[in-house]
Amino acid sequence: MDLETDDPRWKVIHADMDAFFAAVEVLDDPSLKGKPLVIGYPGPRGVVSTASYEARKFGIHSAMPSTEALRRCPDAIWRSPRGRRYGEVSRMIMEVFREFTPTIEPLSVDEAFLDISGSLKLFGGAICIGKGIRKRVFEETGGLTVSIGIAPNKFLAKLASDLDKPDGMTVVDPDRIQELLDPLPVKKIWGVGPRMTHSLQEIGLNTISDLRRVGIELLQRRFGENSAQRLWNLAHGQDDRGFGEGGPTKSISTENTFTKDISRGTESDQFLRKAAEEIAESLRRQEWRARTLRLKVRLSSFKTYTRSKTMDNPIVDAATLYQTGRNLLEEIELEGEGIRLLGLGAAGLVPADEPIQNTLFGEDTANRKDEKVTRLLDQAKDDQGSSLLKRGSLVSPPPETSRGGRHSATKEKDEA
Ligand SMILES: [Mg+2]
Repeated sequence: MDLETDDPRWKVIHADMDAFFAAVEVLDDPSLKGKPLVIGYPGPRGVVSTASYEARKFGIHSAMPSTEALRRCPDAIWRSPRGRRYGEVSRMIMEVFREFTPTIEPLSVDEAFLDISGSLKLFGGAICIGKGIRKRVFEETGGLTVSIGIAPNKFLAKLASDLDKPDGMTVVDPDRIQELLDPLPVKKIWGVGPRMTHSLQEIGLNTISDLRRVGIELLQRRFGENSAQRLWNLAHGQDDRGFGEGGPTKSISTENTFTKDISRGTESDQFLRKAAEEIAESLRRQEWRARTLRLKVRLSSFKTYTRSKTMDNPIVDAATLYQTGRNLLEEIELEGEGIRLLGLGAAGLVPADEPIQNTLFGEDTANRKDEKVTRLLDQAKDDQGSSLLKRGSLVSPPPETSRGGRHSATKEKDEA
């Protein structure tokens, strides 16, 4: 391909680490190099978290039941995930990405979109930036590789980073986007999952080229105005999503409908403590702090209330999340009714490394201390692969949870 290295149409890079968890394990224990390695728990209820490229040759992939992986490759080496270590390396690579642009949008611990539109001149073009990222990631981490996609928009950048894995760099020629897209199966389109793939195949649309030729009217009749327009745009390589504030996760929440309506007091406290712990853990793992805490309450009569509080200093510690949730619940007039559903959520997420204002009363020091303790608990959980270790307040058995006997706490992540 004969490409100018300073094409200003290349605005987005998608950087995605290769077999991240497995690669970190190999980095820390070079004797694993070149071997089929599976990160996960090999028990009957376990699933594969990450498979090394050597293990993938046996057909093992993420989210596969561990029993299936064991069947496919009995000789594979298994390692338990070490979240704390992956988090540490994740911070390193995100820092590297920020060397090239202040605007990054992490999609998970090991991948991010970079808005490079303002950095092109400074670094001598998108290809120089791509090369620079690969070099700096390798140096900073002591040997990890990252795959890069360079394109005019997010959809194409993410698609591209996957085309030459591992340790590859794919540049989408802005004048030949259709040539790239047309032969690809429809499932390569952002947001097209197994169900949509099936629906499209049912009407004979297997490739992006099929989709493009069929005309938007048929898609509209079949999938509705909005989905049709989205499919149509993406099939033409058009994606106008920008870079939002605060990254892809806008809120983290958990809620529970109780088997039997509960009252305010011990039972609601128990739920709030547990929810606060879960949210705090989720925030820490994703490197966020929350500015806003939301409480949702549904009473026996189905009357539903939401209350929220926005903090001056973003929080991450379970104790503050719990206390704030408790205070919000106190504000609600229950009028003698039982509580059918409780939900607690964190919103207004900001990156954890954003500097925090100093407070006059040393509150922040207390929060930080708490953060340290909970981080150690996370680590212990990761190391043992169990949740036996809980904070004192959680040692007592949890209240009866959802109706129907299954725990139905749900975590919602709003994709931007
Ligand atoms: Mg990856």
